[in-house]
Amino acid sequence: MSCVVREGAQLLTLIVLAGASCTSPAPPAATTRASETVATAPANPADVHTRAIVVDSHDDTTQRMFFDKTFDLSARHSTGNIDIPRMRDGGLDALFFSIWVPSDVTGPVAVKRALQLIDSVHEAVRRHPNDLVLATTAADVRRAASEKKIAALMGMEGGHMIDDDLGTLRDFAKLGVRYLTLTHFTNNNWADSSTDKPKHNGLTGFGKEVVRELNRLGMMVDISHVADKTFADVLEVTTVPVIASHSSCRAIANHPRNMTDDMMRALAKNGGVIMINYEVSFLSEENRLAGEKSGGVVAALDKMSKTCGGDEACSTLEMARIRREAMDKGTLPAVSWEKIVEHIDHAAKVAGIDHVGLGSDFDGATMPIGMEDASQLPKLTTALMAKGYSAADVEKILGGNILRVMEQVEQGAMRVQR
Ligand SMILES: [Zn+2]
Repeated sequence: MSCVVREGAQLLTLIVLAGASCTSPAPPAATTRASETVATAPANPADVHTRAIVVDSHDDTTQRMFFDKTFDLSARHSTGNIDIPRMRDGGLDALFFSIWVPSDVTGPVAVKRALQLIDSVHEAVRRHPNDLVLATTAADVRRAASEKKIAALMGMEGGHMIDDDLGTLRDFAKLGVRYLTLTHFTNNNWADSSTDKPKHNGLTGFGKEVVRELNRLGMMVDISHVADKTFADVLEVTTVPVIASHSSCRAIANHPRNMTDDMMRALAKNGGVIMINYEVSFLSEENRLAGEKSGGVVAALDKMSKTCGGDEACSTLEMARIRREAMDKGTLPAVSWEKIVEHIDHAAKVAGIDHVGLGSDFDGATMPIGMEDASQLPKLTTALMAKGYSAADVEKILGGNILRVMEQVEQGAMRVQR
């Protein structure tokens, strides 16, 4: 029950519907202004966006592909955020499809659902061979872009899906999964989540083994969703850069799912990258606070869970629709797409230009006004260049940084395996 929705209203849901209490995160560290990333902007942002390899590290369309057997990824839809025509319009070259099972589904049932979701991604690639190609390495992504195909990658969101078994983790790696988000909204048996009461003081001994095995397998360790202490433990253990696949900046929106400036500096030291999440309550403090207080949204959530039953895609789309409607009516503070640029800019100043990227949470969260779907992505390039970011800097943010991390993780695995 506590996890029928993906991002955004989850704290509210945890508190109100499941009766759980969530500790408030520490206040954000003071923002220090790093050296400005300013260079001469070339004339045409559209050309820069087209030339760049645009990578999105977190997308939940997999649920829609799995639950709605009539959903056609190659058709243009008026609902949701992702389909092939809108990815083409937005110049999106590579997408990590999320393999996500709610935290309260565990054991063999979670493993089986994860396998079914992986199959949904493989099937989408098989059905649309002219547009999609399965990718598991940075080289695959670069090759796909040169062939004008969209690279389909997979990230697993929630360590509970490995069912406390490194063998199962290795099986997922063989099927092409390329990152593991260590937790989802609740703690699992070996790692604490940012939206649950601390139980393990970060990572357990087995949790540290999972990180080492991910390093050995060449799978990225994803620290989105984990508790701050879990993040610190990961940095002690990992030998290669890690990612936050879909998190934003806590200095701007004080949500425990976001990263503090200190965490971003530590991530940069590790060589990792924060991929900015577009969920409205992670972007805007005003929206986050209003959402937590809103009784109307609670009633709507309750109705939604009855309407959708166990269909996670239905729940997510309904949730986004309800919250978007509330923003349109003014009962929830409206959030503009420009907030995404503010978070990218903040992360680039704090962590450095080599340590920020895009992790939309499309089809898993409520998008801000003006970023209704993937077709709107070129706006980010235009806005960043208007702020003075160079073409080279923008290319790093759009995809260069995450591809560099993938390469470092692949090389790290080769070193270990040798
Ligand atoms: Zn998430």
